[in-house]
Amino acid sequence: MDLTSHTAHELRGLLDHREVTSEELTRAHLARIETVDPRIGAFLTVLPERAVEMARAADRRIQAGEAGPLTGIPLGLKDVLVTKGVRTTCGSRILETFVPPYDATAVARLEAAGAVFLGKLNMDEFAMGSSNENSAYGPVHNPWDLSRVPGGSSGGSAAAVAAREAVAALGTDTGGSIRQPASCCSVVGLKPTYGRVSRYGLVAFASSLDQIGPFARDVQDAAAMLTAISGHDPLDSTSIDAPVPDFAAALTGDVRGLRVGVPKEYFVEGMDREVEAAVRTAIDTLRGLGAEVREVSLPHTEYAVAVYYLIATAEASSNLARFDGVKYGLRVDDGDLLSTYKATRAKGFGAEVKRRIMLGTYALSAGYYDAYYRRAQRVRTLVARDFRAAFGEVDVICGPTAPTPAFRLGEKTDDPLQMYLSDIFTIPCNLAGLPGISLPCGFTAGGLPVGLQLLGAPFTEETLLRAAHAYEQATDWHTRAPAL
Ligand code: GLN
Repeated sequence: MDLTSHTAHELRGLLDHREVTSEELTRAHLARIETVDPRIGAFLTVLPERAVEMARAADRRIQAGEAGPLTGIPLGLKDVLVTKGVRTTCGSRILETFVPPYDATAVARLEAAGAVFLGKLNMDEFAMGSSNENSAYGPVHNPWDLSRVPGGSSGGSAAAVAAREAVAALGTDTGGSIRQPASCCSVVGLKPTYGRVSRYGLVAFASSLDQIGPFARDVQDAAAMLTAISGHDPLDSTSIDAPVPDFAAALTGDVRGLRVGVPKEYFVEGMDREVEAAVRTAIDTLRGLGAEVREVSLPHTEYAVAVYYLIATAEASSNLARFDGVKYGLRVDDGDLLSTYKATRAKGFGAEVKRRIMLGTYALSAGYYDAYYRRAQRVRTLVARDFRAAFGEVDVICGPTAPTPAFRLGEKTDDPLQMYLSDIFTIPCNLAGLPGISLPCGFTAGGLPVGLQLLGAPFTEETLLRAAHAYEQATDWHTRAPAL
């Protein structure tokens, strides 16, 4: 039996009927990692002993009849989530030797659910990027075409799930870092509403935008992951104190009467024709299932990328000030304190992180704050208002996740602006704090995946998941696997 090609809900049946043990499943995934990861580069740290230990504990729990949906399921974790006793690099040299003393809340919740951790996944340094090429530990290769990027910044998470190295994974999304790589790798990626999932133990990039969310091979698994990690956490003051629904229960398969808005601003000049065609066909499929499709407008979309690169860099410049050689990771001693700060940060951070720290520091500096940061905050409100108005008319917003399929490694590394534009359809959702999901909706003639994005009003993940699931039931894109 091929143990690496199943979803978590399929494996649940096999585990609970004792047709397979979690230990067997875990060993199969560790073997798969050994076979394919030298070509993919998704894992920064593999945890063979810990994974087998966790699997044995899960097997005991299954024996005792105490299994939940994720008990015994082998998962991967983006290396921006702190893990007690396990090195957490954030894809950066500056944290190459950092071993956190505690677990992120989302990680602890998965562990409490009985999941098995295979290891820590590659990413753009401090989650800054759209291609995973900003990792200090080398790029990740797209499992569908090894000469192409997997998207970013959660490139390792998306590639590991697509390449059958992990059943599901956690990633983070500040401006698209779950949805865009999910789209590039043909997996499901969900960015929850801001406040749905605790950010405690997520190493902060831009705190007002960051959210943790799942990667999975289908919507049902994404729903189970979301249920496991959601909920109030006193350790994150921005986490919402509201009951967590059983998201899997929302998957009724029925979208009759669902009002689907298609923003005219999400079909832009210069976008890839095959992407546009696949997304339009997907919208027709939703219509065929009984959804009512209509055009909507999000007029401030064109400002979102600029606003994001002011707010995200400003927050990053503040958040990353703590990496100075004193408390965490790398320290380059250089005589006095100030020189040590400088030497540590010069050696520890990569070019993109330095660019962002400089941009953010500039935007916040005296004399420029009003012109840049404050103005960006105002326009952020306008972007959020666009969505509020649209969600007065429709239940979900639907469009492409990214304007192009996965690009070639190296294609955009010399042109940061081109790279930033990969996120034009994903960034507005973060600015407004909304939930969003990307799911497979086709392939180009050259075999590259295309992703469909659905966005919802705050805390309407159930509606998003229901629509995504209904679409998935009507198509088979999610069942295809890359040949490796
Ligand atoms: N690609 C975007 C950036 O570079 C988004 C990153 C993210 O969501 N973490 O900032």
